[in-house]
Amino acid sequence: MAKSIQFRTVALFCAAAAVLLVGCFAAVYVLFEREVRNQLDRQLSETAAPVIADQIADPDERDVDQLNLPDAYFEVLDGAGKVTQRSKNLKSDLPLSLTKVGRLPVSTSFETVSMPDVGELRTAIIPFEIAGKMWALAVGTPTRHARGALSTFTAFAVLLFALSLALMAVVSTFYARKLELVVGQLRQFVSDASHELKTPLSVLRGETELLLSRPRSSEEYEQALHIMESELKTMSRIVEGLFTLSMADAGQLRFAPEPVCVDDVLEESIALATPFANSRGIRIERKLQNGIVLPGNAAFLRQLFLIFIDNAIKYSPAQRLLRVSLAAGSEVRVSFEDQGIGIANEHRRMIFERFFRVTNTDDVETQSGGLGLAIAQAIVTAHGGSIECESELGVGSIFTVRLPFASR
Ligand code: ADP
Repeated sequence: MAKSIQFRTVALFCAAAAVLLVGCFAAVYVLFEREVRNQLDRQLSETAAPVIADQIADPDERDVDQLNLPDAYFEVLDGAGKVTQRSKNLKSDLPLSLTKVGRLPVSTSFETVSMPDVGELRTAIIPFEIAGKMWALAVGTPTRHARGALSTFTAFAVLLFALSLALMAVVSTFYARKLELVVGQLRQFVSDASHELKTPLSVLRGETELLLSRPRSSEEYEQALHIMESELKTMSRIVEGLFTLSMADAGQLRFAPEPVCVDDVLEESIALATPFANSRGIRIERKLQNGIVLPGNAAFLRQLFLIFIDNAIKYSPAQRLLRVSLAAGSEVRVSFEDQGIGIANEHRRMIFERFFRVTNTDDVETQSGGLGLAIAQAIVTAHGGSIECESELGVGSIFTVRLPFASR
């Protein structure tokens, strides 16, 4: 299926390019051929002019019979189209169509004829008058030079066509591969997102069906509503996360940078997470340098810090410590050091991927939908910063966010 996207894109690009190139070539060929023919016809008229002038000046002379010029063939025709003189280089009469009709054209006419010994000739039949009687001079010249020019043009066009198609195939394959990759990621993302939403939805459906199956006490209703509220919170977190990420993907996670006091935002984030930390018996220790101001967005930075604090609490056993520190040098460094379960080396590269989870916790409160670190990455990128992760299984993890002082 994915392969067919690539194949179809390349085929479509190449077919469109081929049609365009053939169309252009045909148009240029027709114009070029017409120009070559017009030039030949002009050349014939110019060659004939002095010969006709000679005939008119001295009608009794049989000069044409004596002519023997390279690549120029002459005949004098009388009023009935009968040949009266023929240049020496012609072994037989020119096979002109008017000789079959038996009369001369009223004005100069051109035709292409073919003779076995001289090949294809372009001819002009030019009528003239001597003492009230009509005559005509037929003059012919081989078309091989013109044909040669046209064949060179065709050969060049075929070469250009092949090269253009090859180039188009290479370029379109490159873009089709990228397209295939993006489509693959999109499919994966949609399937992961629907999978993540399926769990809270089925819990909600199960709870509702159970509640409606028979009359319940008010305690039972309250208990079920708590479960449903929690599932709805999870779903809102996932949907909000997806929205933030889709904005980041579209390059729209932009903001007008404002001076943000980082220690204030960190304090706010810690205050927001404290009830959760308390419920888990996690102590938060802070070592914050004061008065650090950088250009950014306070709401995004609060969301960013909360993701790391939340994760540290979620993935730590009870009664452990979380150290949050803030320091500034040439850049701002915020680190979150926990004494949690840690992350294995092979998983560390993948934790920033959407919906990636090392452990699948059943605790409803701890589920952020596997989007937390992907969102953190998007926010940090939007601020022109970076994230580092050091971790040891069973010992703990340190997530360090580096943010530049200079605006993006
Ligand atoms: P979520 O926490 O919803 O699963 P995240 O994107 O925030 O999603 O984290 C991805 C995964 O990285 C988590 O599922 C967890 O396995 C791992 N992880 C993140 N932070 C920590 C941490 N502080 N300690 C241990 N594992 C962590």
